[in-house]
Amino acid sequence: MRKVMVELGTRSYPIIIGSGIDDEIISFVRTSGYSAHGMIVTDMNVGPLCADDIAALFAAAGVHAEIVTIPAGEPSKSLAQANDLFTRAIELGLDRNSPIIALGGGVVGDLTGFVAASYMRGVPFLQIPTSLLAQVDSSVGGKVAVNHALGKNLIGAFYQPDAVFMDLKLLRTLPKREILSGLGEIIKYGIIYDADFFAWLEGHCVDILALEPAAVTHIIARSCAIKADVVRQDERESGLRRILNFGHTIAHAVEKETGYVRYRHGEAVAIGMAGAAAISVQMGLLSDDDRMRINDLIRAMELPLSAEGVKVDAMHADLFHDKKTVGGRIHWVLAEGIGRVSVHSDVPEEIVRKILLGLSS
Ligand code: NAD
Repeated sequence: MRKVMVELGTRSYPIIIGSGIDDEIISFVRTSGYSAHGMIVTDMNVGPLCADDIAALFAAAGVHAEIVTIPAGEPSKSLAQANDLFTRAIELGLDRNSPIIALGGGVVGDLTGFVAASYMRGVPFLQIPTSLLAQVDSSVGGKVAVNHALGKNLIGAFYQPDAVFMDLKLLRTLPKREILSGLGEIIKYGIIYDADFFAWLEGHCVDILALEPAAVTHIIARSCAIKADVVRQDERESGLRRILNFGHTIAHAVEKETGYVRYRHGEAVAIGMAGAAAISVQMGLLSDDDRMRINDLIRAMELPLSAEGVKVDAMHADLFHDKKTVGGRIHWVLAEGIGRVSVHSDVPEEIVRKILLGLSS
């Protein structure tokens, strides 16, 4: 069992990582002082696999947690779905001390966190992430949101959970493509923060793709520790936290142009990282050897390097409307080497266009 702390003063919380962490969940809940009634939100894929078992753990700790199951997939991250959950919470008589638990991937986590942040101006929130992407990224750091018809994640809050419980056993049923999607974010941590971790990933691709337990524990724990360290220094993304967006500027445009259905998030991030690395070379920041190392690792993890058939003009327009654009300028997170990135708002449009052409051919 590994424990990573997210140090945020009075809002600090533990991330518990292990294969079989039932006792840790029970003892945390038992000593939490929560009300006797709560709500577990899960989706139609995850719920049948494990929701009853998780509810039983809460019952053993003295909390009756009602299971509420939503449709799987990104469309559930909506205000309409949030409203249904508010209705259920009111019907269940949940009070300000009732825990709301997210049991699922990033969709369930983001939606449930938004509901927990807003219901009665904020109630206790617990994350039990079940996808690799949710374990290494979305369940840590407190960004919660739903989508709006005009854009993804536009309605949300910063709202930290009381604890995050990552049971590696839950990954056994995760489809391979979803595992690969999580690996996209894991590669990102090596590029932005930790050259040794990047090198370790290069040397352990086979173990990782085979889901060898020690390798999986290591990549999850190291990714969470890096994210926790960044979030500790800049909880609300006024500076350093932007580095977590490496690869995401182009990824968001790719996702938008492909209707959020062709690529999993981590796949789009892989394409975006290849693009950001290429821009970094064009800007004279990164050597071509390091760019090739990045591309080789993305390829070795069976992730895409380009988005065939995506229209460059449309991507270009999307980029300049991304919400991470401040005052009309794009803040590009660019690599200065493996393990080191910096933010630049002076990338010429011609360079961006040239790289987009390369990515979409
Ligand atoms: P997801 O929640 O849609 O899960 C992926 C698929 O895997 C779903 O079909 C789900 O039902 C299924 N699944 C999950 N766990 C499973 C398991 N153990 N066994 C079998 N099937 C399982 O998608 P995701 O990739 O986990 O998350 C993507 C979402 O996360 C996006 O909405 C993205 O915006 C968000 N996100 C948020 C943050 C953040 O900081 N809040 C960061 C990154 C991504």
